[in-house]
Amino acid sequence: MLAVVAARATCDRGRSGAIIVYQQQIVATGYVGSPPGFPHCDDVGHELVNGHCVRTVHAEQNALASAARHGISVLGGTIYSTMTPCRTCAMLIITAGIDRVVAAYTYPGENGGHAILQKAGIFGGNVSPEELYAID
Ligand SMILES: [Zn+2]
Ligand SMILES: [Zn+2]
Repeated sequence: MLAVVAARATCDRGRSGAIIVYQQQIVATGYVGSPPGFPHCDDVGHELVNGHCVRTVHAEQNALASAARHGISVLGGTIYSTMTPCRTCAMLIITAGIDRVVAAYTYPGENGGHAILQKAGIFGGNVSPEELYAID
């Protein structure tokens, strides 16, 4: 399931996906992509600021936004993400009331997200991509 979601990402600097699960049910999914109505990196190229592409909404943010759009609570849920969340995503995840974060890879632009999740006590550890992609 996560592999399918991540494959939809529209920025090849990080084809990441995220799934939010609550009580064994997938309640929201997200992948790296531009906001609705905005052009995608795969079509128009990246928008780089300080070496990072800023055109896209991160997978975790898109999953949280998707839940918000559909009026679905993520309180007490688990988020499975291709990569460990960046600092902003980590803070949003905590604020949204997610209880646990599981990721396959360490985010290449790691900027403190991991430490914030650990401080909040919700980092559930890294798992192998195969294990992560087996979740459905
Ligand atoms: Zn991009
Ligand atoms: Zn992020």
